[in-house]
Amino acid sequence: MARTRRGSAMLEASPVRAFSDNYLWLIRAPLEPKAAVVVDPGDARPVETALHDEGLELRAILVTHHHADHVGGVAALAERHGAAVFGPARERMPCPARLLDDGDTVSLADLGLEFHVMAVPGHTLGHIAYHGHGALFCGDTLFSAGCGRLFEGTAAQMHESLQRIAALPDETRIFCAHEYTLSNLRFAAAVEPGNADVLETLESVRVLRGRNAITLPSTLGRERRFNPFLRCEVPAVRAAAEARAGSTLHGPADVFAVLRAWKDGFR
Ligand code: ZN
Ligand code: FE
Repeated sequence: MARTRRGSAMLEASPVRAFSDNYLWLIRAPLEPKAAVVVDPGDARPVETALHDEGLELRAILVTHHHADHVGGVAALAERHGAAVFGPARERMPCPARLLDDGDTVSLADLGLEFHVMAVPGHTLGHIAYHGHGALFCGDTLFSAGCGRLFEGTAAQMHESLQRIAALPDETRIFCAHEYTLSNLRFAAAVEPGNADVLETLESVRVLRGRNAITLPSTLGRERRFNPFLRCEVPAVRAAAEARAGSTLHGPADVFAVLRAWKDGFR
């Protein structure tokens, strides 16, 4: 793995805010201080501003799925900067792109960047995530304390996708595409009112959001402690889902399905 001059392999990525709650992640190239890669640029303008302010050149664009808030700025940025575009093979991209499927690798050797592609269907059917340098860019699949809505896939598909993500190491940094953490934690507290990690995180996130600060990236290790969608095996989570469903549930995938439907109607 490429190392920065400071000797650390930790990837540098900063959020560009767009729309009401999107984060477009701007990744710094470890080997080229002026080069950057953007993930899911739903809007070109805030990305242009960030590139200009920080004196960066956009070299590549990574797309996780086809929704407009993730691809709206792709064509304009690709054209203006001549940036290479990468996106999911099973979804429609707004411009020519290198199409990626599960197991593929995005290798930007001159920038010192390499990502492995994971298929994570559920939110959309062709949704992919990019894993590399101890970081996961997961679009609308995993959120802090929550997960994406099922627009195209089934609960079983999303559960399987989250299980694949959960197999990554605890220290994996999770770069989600939306600031949904506070409302997700309110739901988590309804599911597990006795989980001290949920309640403590809810308090700290309330403070952060009170001053409009970002709550990301998270890590997988943190998420395991308070994200109900990664805790379907936990007896208290299962009991809450069974109480909600009014019936016995037969496994973690069924618990997941009940939680996801419960969250859809939760205010
Ligand atoms: Zn989406
Ligand atoms: Fe989105």
